[in-house]
Amino acid sequence: MPLLLKNATLVSGKKCDLLIEEGRISKIARSISVSADEKLDAKGKLLLPGFVNTHTHAAMSLFRGMAEDMELHSWLSCVRAAEVKLSAPQVGIGTSLACAEMIKGGTTCFSDMYFHMDAAAAAVQKSGMRAVLGYGMVDLGDEKKRKSELSIAEKFVKDWNGKANGRIKCSIAPHSLYLCSAELLQAANELSKKHSIPYHIHLSETREEVFDCLSKNGKRPAHYLDSLGVLSHRAVAAHSVWLTNEEVRLLSSRKVSASLNPASNCKLAGGSAAPMPDMQKFGMNISLGTDGCASNNSLSMFEAMKFCALLQKNSRWDARVARAGSIFTAATLGGAHALGIHAGGIREGKLADLILLDAKSANLSPVHDWTANIVYSANAGNVTDAIINGKIVMKDRKLLTINEEKLVEQAQKEAEKLAAASG
Ligand SMILES: [Zn+2]
Repeated sequence: MPLLLKNATLVSGKKCDLLIEEGRISKIARSISVSADEKLDAKGKLLLPGFVNTHTHAAMSLFRGMAEDMELHSWLSCVRAAEVKLSAPQVGIGTSLACAEMIKGGTTCFSDMYFHMDAAAAAVQKSGMRAVLGYGMVDLGDEKKRKSELSIAEKFVKDWNGKANGRIKCSIAPHSLYLCSAELLQAANELSKKHSIPYHIHLSETREEVFDCLSKNGKRPAHYLDSLGVLSHRAVAAHSVWLTNEEVRLLSSRKVSASLNPASNCKLAGGSAAPMPDMQKFGMNISLGTDGCASNNSLSMFEAMKFCALLQKNSRWDARVARAGSIFTAATLGGAHALGIHAGGIREGKLADLILLDAKSANLSPVHDWTANIVYSANAGNVTDAIINGKIVMKDRKLLTINEEKLVEQAQKEAEKLAAASG
């Protein structure tokens, strides 16, 4: 069903019409007059590619505000106590809540790592979002657990990869090198290679992880993963904070993508910033993520962009680093590239994952440089419409795929149950 988008303003300031057919942008021109089944007038609105959030645990939206202002280990035990009580239907509700928040904040695709993933995938299917979903594997060195984790992960791939008109893609997601044995990390890589899907892993989020890896394996995390042969263009390394120059060089030579999660790093008081300028120097692909809602507590990519830029500038004592253009690219094209998705830009042939912003909002005026306004001044409330896979999923801030009022009520009820159950 063709969709015609009229009178949109691009970041360059130019005006254009877009024809969207079969989920893709089929034509971009100053004026297109064809009869389309559906029309959307974008007059006074700014057209952007939707944001790609490359690291989430969507269902953790139910934990929003549950464990606040705590030292890391107390925070972890509080979150884990709630996680063990989390049921599959609750993962479904939490993921729907996350999808609602993400669409309203201009995110059109996210990469998730969690459990009860069938429920998460069903929620994504209904929401109209695009997502890369992976079952988060943990074996703690136990062989029996390893086998069952791998079989759950592969069954999920077989059941869901390419589903929902191609909107759902799967990943292989070994949690991290501290919760996964070398055997699991390697077997996971074989699966990722076999199915040609992303390898989603946490890497060097805390300094403790680096010290532990050094004492256990005699190598820093990136070198350790490389010695296992699991670094490739399929790998997306979430956080990538505590990396040396040598590690950045190595990751970049293996074509690994970084997913920077600055808000989560700051909230959990990680104490440092990912070495973004070095990543850029070595040509590493950079994307942005929010991490789960227990450590952020928002899924806003506008916040991810601003936090990233500010944290980089502040930690480097140099306002010239992490420029608005490179931050915006990381939030869109960098994410699409990391996940192997043909989106993240406004070009003929690309997937029609697009958003519109109210260009006349007070907080976006005046305009000298749209990119700077988007990165430093915009917020989720500026997003008016969202199109994913060629379909309108939000119009004038109303979600068309999700009953937001009912969902918010459900989420509140389930979050209260979880809080009571986990003490
Ligand atoms: Zn995470």
